[in-house]
Amino acid sequence: MIADQHHSHIENDPEYTGLTVNQGIEPPPSVNEDSVKRFLKNKKKKTLSVVQYVEGILNGDITILSQAVTLVESSKPDHQEIAQEIILKCLPFSGNSVRIGITGVPGVGKSTFIEAMGKHITSKGEKLAVLAIDPSSERTKGSILGDKTRMEELSADPLAYIRPSPSAGSLGGVARKTREIIILCEAAGFSHIFIETVGVGQSETAVHSMVDFFLLLMLAGAGDELQGIKRGIMEMADAITINKADGNNIEKAGLARIQYQNALHLFPATESGWVPKVLTCSAYLKTGISEIWETINEYMLKTKANNYFQHRRNEQSKFWMYETINEQLRNDFYQNEVISEKLGEAEGKVLKEELSSFVAARKLLDLYDQIRKNN
Ligand code: GDP
Repeated sequence: MIADQHHSHIENDPEYTGLTVNQGIEPPPSVNEDSVKRFLKNKKKKTLSVVQYVEGILNGDITILSQAVTLVESSKPDHQEIAQEIILKCLPFSGNSVRIGITGVPGVGKSTFIEAMGKHITSKGEKLAVLAIDPSSERTKGSILGDKTRMEELSADPLAYIRPSPSAGSLGGVARKTREIIILCEAAGFSHIFIETVGVGQSETAVHSMVDFFLLLMLAGAGDELQGIKRGIMEMADAITINKADGNNIEKAGLARIQYQNALHLFPATESGWVPKVLTCSAYLKTGISEIWETINEYMLKTKANNYFQHRRNEQSKFWMYETINEQLRNDFYQNEVISEKLGEAEGKVLKEELSSFVAARKLLDLYDQIRKNN
C-alpha cells in the first residue's frame, strides 16, 4: 500500500519541486525482544533454591509443593536435576502416610467417591493428597482424571491437595513420577494419599505397586465383562465396594456384594493374611463411607502388626529401583540414533526369516555395547 501511494503521489512527479514523500518502512516491533529476554532471565533467577523448595514443602506450603511437583513432572534435564535433589532431601520425611489406590471403570463414581471419602478424612483433621495415574491422558490430550471440577468441595478444602495425572510419557514414566510425588506430599505432611486410576488397563498394576491398600469400585448388576474388570485386578483388591447403593439399586447392590464375596473366597489366600472385604456404599449420598474408612484402618492395624505393611513397602521400593533401571536402560537403547536406524532393518530380516528374533536382538545389543564402549 505504501509503495502504491509512493508511485501515485503527486509530490513524486519528477516535475514537482515541493517536498517528496519517502517510501515507508516497516514499523518496529512493539515489543522489545531484548527486554523480554532480560525479563525472562531475571524471572528465572527468582526460582527457588533446592533448600527453599525443601523448606517450603516441609512447612506444608502448597504453592511450593505444586512447583516442586511441576519440576518432577518436567522432562527437562535441568528441572529433573533439581527435582531429584528435592526428592532426596524429602525422603527422610516421607513414608508416614496411608497410601490408598482407587480404581474402577469410568462412570463407576470414582470422583464422587473420592470427594465423599476425602471429606470424611479431612473432617477428622487429616490431610489428604489426591493423585492420579491416567495413561490415556497423553493420547486424548484431555485427561479423564484431570477433570477434577466435580470434586468441588474437596478442591476448596484447605486440608486437601488435588493433582491431576502427569500427562507426558509412558505408563512407567508417569508411574515413577507419581511415586516421587508421593514422597513430596508425605514430606509436606499429607497423612493420606489417594492414587486414582481407571480400571481398564495396565495402570492398576502400577498403582498397586505403590499403595498400601487397593480399593476397587464396582457397580451392581453390570457384569464383570461390562465393567472391564479383569480377574487379576479383583485379585489385587484389598476391598471391593459396590457403589451407587442407593434408591432402587440398594437390593441389587446387596446381592452383588454376596456374589463378589463368594467369588473372592475362591481366590488363593493373600500374603498379608487379610481377607479382602466387599462393601456397599453410595458416594452420592455419602452412605457406607465410614465403613470403608474403618476397613482401611483395620487393614492398617493388622498389616502393621504382622509386619506385612513394612514388607510390602520394602518390596515396592526394590521394585521401583529395578523399574527405574529397566526404564533408563530401555530408553537409552531405543533412543540411540544408530540403534533406532538399525531396528527397522533388523525387523525386516526377522520377518523375511533371514535372522532369528534372538540373533537379531543379540546383534543389536552387541552393537549397542560397541557404541557405548566407543563413547
Ligand atoms: P468416575 O468416572 O468413576 O470418576 O465417576 P463419577 O464420579 O464422575 O460419577 C459418574 C456418574 O455417576 C455421575 O453422574 C455421578 O453423579 C454418578 N454417581 C457417582 N456416585 C454415585 C452414587 O453413589 N449413586 C448414584 N446414584 N450416582 C452416583
